[in-house]
Amino acid sequence: MDYKKYITVVNDWPKEGIEFKDITTLMDNGKAFKSAVDEIVDYADRLNIDVVVGPEARGFIIGCPVSYALEVGFAPVRKEGKLPREVIKVDYGLEYGKDVLTIHKDAIKPGQRVLITDDLLATGGTIEATINLVEQLGGVVVGCAFLIELSYLHGRDKLQGYDVLTLMEY
Ligand code: AMP
Repeated sequence: MDYKKYITVVNDWPKEGIEFKDITTLMDNGKAFKSAVDEIVDYADRLNIDVVVGPEARGFIIGCPVSYALEVGFAPVRKEGKLPREVIKVDYGLEYGKDVLTIHKDAIKPGQRVLITDDLLATGGTIEATINLVEQLGGVVVGCAFLIELSYLHGRDKLQGYDVLTLMEY
């Protein structure tokens, strides 16, 4: 399916110079959204995963339907101060700013096979930080799935040695 026609590009948001890729217009279309999620489900099914991990907030939108379809758990990665129990942390940089990501300490058991999901791969800072959290807990990142890759930002360079699926490229 040609998913790009469902993506709305918003120029200069949230800052000047950023071409924001708005996935809500893809989510609005039930058939397109299901088809995109199904592609990631097929990919994850082949990888024999135990758990899906996604960073807030759009990593949840992609990851939760995948975990539901495969009957595996979903573990949220969130900004500092949002998870209620003991967490581990990592500092990271992104296309427009800097932040801290956290995950519950008991979210992943050592040796579990993990799929990481997000809506978009830009500089790769978010996925790199999420991989760091999963690996700190002893999880094995067997795949990373995104709807969109901004290849001009070279996020894949941070993902050498990891299996990556993206459905659209800009
Ligand atoms: P990065 O850490 O640079 O790979 O950025 C990825 C995260 O930031 C993803 O969670 C995206 O949701 C968001 N993001 C970064 N750049 C954009 C963009 N141009 N359009 C939409 N979302 C973006």
